[in-house]
Amino acid sequence: MSDQYARFNNKPVPVKIPKLYDGRIRQFTDRGGDYHDLNLPHFYDRARNDGTDYVKLEVYDVPKLQRPHFKDAIADAKWRKTSKGNSFGPSWSTHWFRINIRIPSDWKYAEQVLFEWNCGNEGLIYTNEGNAVVGLSGQERREWIIPKDWQLDGKWHQFYIETSCNEMSGNNSPPDPNRYFRLDTADIVFPNLEARALNIDFWIIGDASREFPGDSWQKHKARDVLNRIIDVFDRNNPDESIKKGREIAREYIGSEVDSSQVYKTANKAPVYGIGNCHIDTAWLWPFAETHRKVGRSWATQLNLIERYPEYTFTASQVQQFKWLSEDYPDVFARVKEAVKGGRFIPIGGSWVECDTNMPSGEAMLRQFLLGQRFFQHHFGFRTKTYWLPDTFGYSPQIPQFCRLVGIDRFLTQKLSWNSINSFPHSTFNWVALDGSQVVAHMPPDNTYTAQAHFGDVSRSLRQHKNLDVDQHGMLLFGHGDGGGGPTSEMLEKLRRCRGLSDTVDLLPRVQLGKTVDEFYDDILASTDNGNKLVTWVGELYFEFHRGTYTTQAAIKKGNRVSEVIMHDVEFLATLASLKNKDYKYPTKDIDELWENVCLNQFHDVLPGSGIEMIYEDARAIYQHIAEQGEKLAKEALDALNISTHYIPGHSLGALNTLPWGRSQVIEVPTEKIPREVQASSSFISQANGDKLLVQVQAEGSGVALPTTVSSSIPHATAKEIRKGVFVLENGKLRATIENGVLTSVWDQDAQREIIPKGATGNQFVIFEDQCLSFPAWETELYSLDSRKELSAGTVRISQKGPLRAAVEIENVISEQSRIKTTISLDAYQKPTKESEGAFPDISYLEFSCEVEWHETYKFLKVEFPVDVHSDVATYETSYGAHKRPTHFNTTWEVAKFEVPAHKWADLSDYSYGVSLINDCKYGYAIHGNVMRLSLLRAPKSPDAHADMGSHQFRYALLPHRGGVNPDVVRAAYNFNHPLEIVYLPNSNPADIDGYDSMVIDTVPEPKGDEVLRSFTLDGDKSLIMSAVKRFEDDEDVSRGLLPVRGASGRKSVIIRVYESLGGRARAYLNSKQSIARVFKTNALEDDEEALDILSGVDGDKVPIELRAFEIATFRIELA
Ligand SMILES: [Zn+2]
Repeated sequence: MSDQYARFNNKPVPVKIPKLYDGRIRQFTDRGGDYHDLNLPHFYDRARNDGTDYVKLEVYDVPKLQRPHFKDAIADAKWRKTSKGNSFGPSWSTHWFRINIRIPSDWKYAEQVLFEWNCGNEGLIYTNEGNAVVGLSGQERREWIIPKDWQLDGKWHQFYIETSCNEMSGNNSPPDPNRYFRLDTADIVFPNLEARALNIDFWIIGDASREFPGDSWQKHKARDVLNRIIDVFDRNNPDESIKKGREIAREYIGSEVDSSQVYKTANKAPVYGIGNCHIDTAWLWPFAETHRKVGRSWATQLNLIERYPEYTFTASQVQQFKWLSEDYPDVFARVKEAVKGGRFIPIGGSWVECDTNMPSGEAMLRQFLLGQRFFQHHFGFRTKTYWLPDTFGYSPQIPQFCRLVGIDRFLTQKLSWNSINSFPHSTFNWVALDGSQVVAHMPPDNTYTAQAHFGDVSRSLRQHKNLDVDQHGMLLFGHGDGGGGPTSEMLEKLRRCRGLSDTVDLLPRVQLGKTVDEFYDDILASTDNGNKLVTWVGELYFEFHRGTYTTQAAIKKGNRVSEVIMHDVEFLATLASLKNKDYKYPTKDIDELWENVCLNQFHDVLPGSGIEMIYEDARAIYQHIAEQGEKLAKEALDALNISTHYIPGHSLGALNTLPWGRSQVIEVPTEKIPREVQASSSFISQANGDKLLVQVQAEGSGVALPTTVSSSIPHATAKEIRKGVFVLENGKLRATIENGVLTSVWDQDAQREIIPKGATGNQFVIFEDQCLSFPAWETELYSLDSRKELSAGTVRISQKGPLRAAVEIENVISEQSRIKTTISLDAYQKPTKESEGAFPDISYLEFSCEVEWHETYKFLKVEFPVDVHSDVATYETSYGAHKRPTHFNTTWEVAKFEVPAHKWADLSDYSYGVSLINDCKYGYAIHGNVMRLSLLRAPKSPDAHADMGSHQFRYALLPHRGGVNPDVVRAAYNFNHPLEIVYLPNSNPADIDGYDSMVIDTVPEPKGDEVLRSFTLDGDKSLIMSAVKRFEDDEDVSRGLLPVRGASGRKSVIIRVYESLGGRARAYLNSKQSIARVFKTNALEDDEEALDILSGVDGDKVPIELRAFEIATFRIELA
């Protein structure tokens, strides 16, 4: 029995009723309420001053919404006096402040003096010399620790603040053009650092008291500690009582929370805190503002890196590094230093954090080629992690793209936003169509902009879905989008979280200072190099944002067209650089164009989720790519002696840049065919307005001559067989159109009807499109219930053959909107014995639409019910194709009620199928027997005028025997790569083999396009030679950014080949010029395997074999 224990109890103790004491805890640090003047917040500042004896403000209002750099701004500045309380605007305008401050002499002993600024908008502090110091963003970030010597010398000191009239998230959605921002704070502050530190102690312990489970002693202990801190607090003796309060706090969070020492315990910490700032490259603000967001944010982070030794910051998007190097060379130099020191970590490796539903496979690889080469040039390494926290769904080929560019790790968290099913994994092996894998991690906290709260740390492990095999969670913290990344407050909170874990346990330990690489290394080390991780095969379909495959149609079209332009420019420039020694491969121009293509693929630009301003910029970029691409192609063609303009005596031909034969009818503007050629030509047999139709049969890449039209070729015809019933026919297909829709498509060869009885094809349908949130992004499942067919259209025959038969249909959508569709069928020539295999034996119905679109929250689609039954449909994706169910068995299939695809999608059964090809669309849905293509949307936010106006697009219905096959893949390429008219010099007829036997009126054989057939592929037709370019590091190609790697005096060609349909495939890669050496390389063009060369009569050939869906790159070093 203890002597101390009293026998009688005269002081009854009440139980501390939790909800009352919890309320008291809240009150203690509440900045509002009745008692805020009495409690802790009242003591955060010891003194504050904004009087003109200490702070003088002048402003320069930059005219015309310009964004000058420091030097220009200061040189042009017209300063006027200003003061707190004034407002600055309008939206997007820039205002430079010249600020002079003087620190009162009695603040000398202050540990720190702060300058606090709040104008409600974004800003950046510059030194008098023009060095960027720290970013400001209204609420999130408003303080700068002023230099110590300013504090001590008592003199006036000058600095600048550049402000831009937008918040971190722009200026509302859609933007208000006329916002003004009030300068509320421009003060010098003498802070009470201990009072501020107690606030953070109190905050974290408070979170423990609220969030720890009720059956844990730690929860009750936290409440006790907090109440004791309040008990000792004495507003009449704040310094002493705050000190006492902090001592009590140490019982719960330990004694090391005021420094990085707190992390130096031996305890294993499963939560890896990684600082980041997700800056959308354009979204609710234009690209030009992003330049400055990067400057502000990263300058701020360098500042934090100096102050917090435990801290590492991660930044992605190479474009942003490039902008920083151009706009803020001083900050970029400091970034480079911090990268060297391992504190600032460039990551991601792609040009931007792009959309991955829509970019072509080649564009995806170029994102990395540009990105990794930039990192290598400036930082001396390539990243191992692909970083896409915010992108709206993930192509099934991404793991393969990654492995081809030296990346084996992947990060996202976006699938946590799924609106229907919860994605089942946090850490897993993600497997591509070809079987390639990457380690994928989705931070369990389900955000990339965590505030580093207690709950964020807790969730980073608690919500991990694969704790049985892996116990590592990444905590991605920091304000995004101009909020500038992590704040000192976040780092202070994390120190306390760690101290808390080491003192009372229960909260998972958080660690700082580890890199993203180390995080993944630790996962691999603890899971037998990933062998124990669960597997997810195929696309990471995002169950949200399904409208982004369609919104901003012009941008989608710009993307598709630009990808085609880049293919052609590189193909032609490569061959020109081999043939003509006076021609220089335009590396810099090509890089610049690819950078632009990749920039516009950013995940709020191409998906259509940005404000109107960014689409003005994006359209200008596409215009630039088109003009510059045309110029580069013309220069290359000139070097190849192929003219894009008529020269008397030259022959007209069609340029085929694709590596296979194609037989097509093309429309040529009349002015492209001079009168004398028209008069003497046997190949023109049909005019269409100001265009002439010409049929060409290209046997491969090169220039194909028009085919003479003879009466023996089956012609395309258009007839009105009964009133209002029209038939297009070409000997292979017979299409019947009634009331403006297809009622029958009969395949003559297969003797098969494609449109089910009673159904109608090319049926335009319109849906109400009122989603629950995010109008530009979303279309909801229930929208499908509002399906309405457009009323019957008026039909007339517009082309009667013989090369093309067509009807024109006009549909009214509403009083403001209408569609004009031309359905056409071209002459079809059955392959003869000689031509068999040279051209695919196919014919398709083409639909060319012109739409005037002025709707509000409507979705226009077109449907083709087809007489094919299959439980899966096939969709083209980046360098591959994949299957998705056509049913709604489970909610996982329901979620895919609208899906992304590239140039084609296909519904096939065992014996027969139908493909739906497009020239600029990405949204599809194939369910049951209905194939649906999404055409236009009408969301009003964040762009109030998205998609209003005129649109032109084409699609085609291609029936085929058997399942989906290489003819479909190639037809879709052909559909997107038009044949261009060029002119070749005629050769001397005597040079032509067999001239003697030629009939006199034979078109003279032009000469000079052989070089375009320098590289060909012979073998399995599912292999696609998709890109021909020069080796980046050849002597004559290199820009000097990276060392030359090509053999001196030799030229190398890079050829990309992919297997498009999912089967092992073999071929010969042929080169007309003899080959010195050939390597299989990765997509960064590093040699990996030397291949055999066989010599033949007509040059050299290299046998190649690809796995199903493999993307292979070859470097052919010419002798
Ligand atoms: Zn984003």
